[in-house]
Amino acid sequence: MAPFLDLGAAYRELQSEIDAAVLASMRTGWYILGPDVEAFEADYAAYCQTAHCVGVANGLDALRLALLAMGVGPGDEVIVASNTYIATWLAVSQCGATPIPVEPQEATYNMDPSRIEAAITPRTKLILPVHLYGQPADLDTILAIARKHQLQVLEDAAQSHGARYKGRRIGGYADAAAWSFYPGKNLGALGDGGAVTTNNPEIADRVRVLRNYGSRVKYVNEIQGFNSRLDPIQAAVLRVKLKHLDTWNARRDVIAAHYNTTLASAGLLLPTVPQWANPVWHLYVIRTKKREALQQHLTDSGIATQIHYPIPPHLQQAYSSLGYKSGSFPITESMANEALSLPIGPQLASECQNKVIAALLEFQSFNARFY
Ligand SMILES: *Cc1c(COP(=O)(O)O)cnc(C)c1O
Repeated sequence: MAPFLDLGAAYRELQSEIDAAVLASMRTGWYILGPDVEAFEADYAAYCQTAHCVGVANGLDALRLALLAMGVGPGDEVIVASNTYIATWLAVSQCGATPIPVEPQEATYNMDPSRIEAAITPRTKLILPVHLYGQPADLDTILAIARKHQLQVLEDAAQSHGARYKGRRIGGYADAAAWSFYPGKNLGALGDGGAVTTNNPEIADRVRVLRNYGSRVKYVNEIQGFNSRLDPIQAAVLRVKLKHLDTWNARRDVIAAHYNTTLASAGLLLPTVPQWANPVWHLYVIRTKKREALQQHLTDSGIATQIHYPIPPHLQQAYSSLGYKSGSFPITESMANEALSLPIGPQLASECQNKVIAALLEFQSFNARFY
């Protein structure tokens, strides 16, 4: 059986280190914020080459609190990726603002900068690109458009811990970046977690106040804030896992390279990487017009696959009020119909990789060409 992602194996590989860190955290006597959260924030800011990191409860809150700290509110429009996980959109609408979708480039699955200007109106406040599947979006081009129109840029970095854009780590490139430490992410906790990184001290300060009841000093509330704090036990786990992130990302890179070479003639549309990007392969997504048949064949061969994502946000019932319909965003919709994510992860054994490759080549042999 080839699992899609084996989180138990990831834990077992670091078990003695993680167990020790969790016990030490429990013994500090600090159970909300405190030394473990501060230590992780310092480590992660250094890792991302940013001045500030603020730990929050999850990735959705990281996005939402960052947007609020950047002044997004009712009546504003935020330009979002049309083909993202729904959290990107929810963060915008939870601030009372409207998500304005922009389609991706076919080759990279990331927001197409050439489509952004057409989506800008006098209400536009911010551009929110996603580094989807672990591949950085074209930040310089997006930032140039943003500066020209005096817009801010927030990066949804939930899938791209450690990725580099033009040699520099993402997280400090735009005005702020929002991270998720959901267990299945490249840097994942043993529960929920999230963070905002930024070089802007005012954004960092506002997120700090927002995450803790709008309070800087206990029982003094400056604004109507939230309870959205990174848990110290999760922070302790994340400090351990951060030390292994580059090694684990490097293993993903080897698997992606293996898939790229062995599947080159399998008749599938494989991921492409722009020359300026160092992706971290959160997901390895292929495209095929015979997706249902291929997924069934892989399931029958004992290989777990997933679809990211089967229904784009604009076609979800949750966003029916925006009035989009089938055909509104054709590139996004064809991706949703054709994308298939293959198993990839730091603990994916080479026998499993070979099994995946063999099954794909077998499918190709009885379906001459399936893209
Ligand atoms: C996972 C994810 C989020 C949300 O993170 P949670 O920690 O699950 O709230 C946001 N955006 C993207 C692109 C994600 O993949």
